[in-house]
Amino acid sequence: KLANETAKADLGRASWKLFHTIMSRFPDHPSPDERTALKSYIHLFVRLYPCGECAEHFRVIVEKFPPQTSSRSAAATWACHVHNEVNRSLGKAVFDCSKIGDFYDCGCAEDGKEEK
Ligand code: FAD
Repeated sequence: KLANETAKADLGRASWKLFHTIMSRFPDHPSPDERTALKSYIHLFVRLYPCGECAEHFRVIVEKFPPQTSSRSAAATWACHVHNEVNRSLGKAVFDCSKIGDFYDCGCAEDGKEEK
């Protein structure tokens, strides 16, 4: 039981890290195709998230707060908000979304001119 909880928490931390880092790299001015791609990613993330109970909880949250894909900042703020909804439901501290700016740095160059 404890091992299961540890594995679930590890998966959660890794997943949130990727989720928020993807938002932090989303374009400021996305094309319609990029917006569709992000919506699809979020939809499939919800659908395929390996912890079934978590996926079901998150599906309800995302239904209530539809994905925002108009810009990087809209997407990052949305992701922070829905993660906070999960935090709340688990009795965790709420993250200050005004601090999301540089929090998720993948170490990647901004525009491909520099090396990753
Ligand atoms: P995490 O919540 O994993 O967060 C990792 C780090 O992200 C934090 O240390 C902090 O630096 C930062 N952070 C925290 N909040 C935010 C935010 N709002 N925005 C941006 N960054 C933030 N576990 C369950 O037991 N039951 C569930 O139903 C469940 N559902 C989940 C659904 C999803 C989609 C995911 C990805 C995970 C779910 N989890 C669930 C796992 C849970 O959310 C945590 O990942 C896990 O409990 C480990 O928590 P943590 O305290 O290490 O921080």
